[in-house]
Amino acid sequence: MKISKHSVGIIHYTLKGDDGEVLDSSVGQEPLAYLQGHGNLIAGLEKDLVGKEAGDKFQSTVAPKEGYGEYDKGLEMEVPKSQFDGDADINVGMQFQAQIGERPQVFTVTEVEGDKIKINGNHALAGETLHFDVEVVEVRKATKEELEHGHVHGPHGHHHH
Ligand code: ZN
Repeated sequence: MKISKHSVGIIHYTLKGDDGEVLDSSVGQEPLAYLQGHGNLIAGLEKDLVGKEAGDKFQSTVAPKEGYGEYDKGLEMEVPKSQFDGDADINVGMQFQAQIGERPQVFTVTEVEGDKIKINGNHALAGETLHFDVEVVEVRKATKEELEHGHVHGPHGHHHH
């Protein structure tokens, strides 16, 4: 069975940056189960998975615009501490969500200097070309419930309800 819209793909992947550094990998852990065509994976990788079947191994190179976006200088901001909740403790590395335009954006605190807080709304991998080594472990049909939820259930999927 080949991967197409609405199929469940179970894959092993290793993600490397442009300099060859391994950024993330499922190898040695549970493979990743995802639902094709529901935005579970970044667009560029999902596109390259179409038509693949169990046993296929391939490389996928994903440009920023189909990955985590171009780096946006405009998302580096400085805000006064008074913008944060009361006496919340603000530390470097903290993440929070803010509404920018029409979509929520995750910001990370990058610097705390007295009353000035520097934040950055770029994904840590924004602007990076991503290099995936992928191995397709299994392909199956999604259940009706998985399609309704837009994600995979079962042993390799996430658990909730
Ligand atoms: Zn669910």
